[in-house]
Amino acid sequence: MKLLEGKVALITGGSRGIGEAIALKFAAEGAHIAFTYVSSDERAKALEEKLSAMGVQAKGYKSDAGDYAAAETLVNEIMTQFGTIDICVNNAGISKDNLLMRMTPEQWDDVLQANLKSIYNLSKQVIKPMMKNRKGSIINMSSIVGMKGNAGQSSYAASKAGIIGFTKSIAQELGSRNVRVNAIAPGFIETDMTHYLKDGGAEKWFEKIPMARFGKPGEVADVALFLASDMSSYVSGQVISVCGAMNT
Ligand code: NAP
Repeated sequence: MKLLEGKVALITGGSRGIGEAIALKFAAEGAHIAFTYVSSDERAKALEEKLSAMGVQAKGYKSDAGDYAAAETLVNEIMTQFGTIDICVNNAGISKDNLLMRMTPEQWDDVLQANLKSIYNLSKQVIKPMMKNRKGSIINMSSIVGMKGNAGQSSYAASKAGIIGFTKSIAQELGSRNVRVNAIAPGFIETDMTHYLKDGGAEKWFEKIPMARFGKPGEVADVALFLASDMSSYVSGQVISVCGAMNT
């Protein structure tokens, strides 16, 4: 028996990086996959085909997670096409790094909207079927930067810290309905988002990481699988770091 046999998972930001790894891992465990993206049409199509070939129902939706009305439309469409939603991974995110003295109001707003308002938007919609079904797992992608802070990343850190407070609060609101809510806090993971860090050599970053390497998207997906499955049936309101001991 696979860990997510027949479950329906919504994964925001599934076209690349960590989201794509989660989609593939969940599908391999038998979940049907609805995922979102904003611009990567070709990558989304290719992923949709790859997931379908794994024998599960799969569809990519071009939908901005930061837009409340779009989130409502998205969840209605998924409910029509998939019948329910058992798991929601709020993974979509961006960074627009700058020192505070140079950060524009637009840069601040863009990051908060894509990273934090998105979590409100999607969670507000998916809890309807989950509360009705008396089961569900919401997994929010935070970051160790939300716990430690990082110079040049005040907007990103604020959004990721906000995710932790949101996660702990709604875990308390939804516990009696058997809807679990947890966050994952990755460290440096090898994706497009961190690609620029390798300019000038990745080794200088390894000095900050006790395990002396970046993580792989699949290593975050393994933790997401644990939180999505019944293996974590009494785990809610928690933040699990996946960071090679960078945040202890
Ligand atoms: P990535 O490679 O840059 O991929 C981002 C994904 O999010 C893409 O699929 C992108 O779609 C999608 N996306 C961006 N804005 C969106 C929006 N408004 N609505 C819907 N989809 C949107 O990023 P990643 O490194 O995999 O990061 C995934 C999550 O993990 C993010 O929340 C990030 O903050 C968090 N995280 C990453 C790291 C790391 O080291 N990589 C560390 C800590 C936390 P398109 O392809 O269409 O652009």
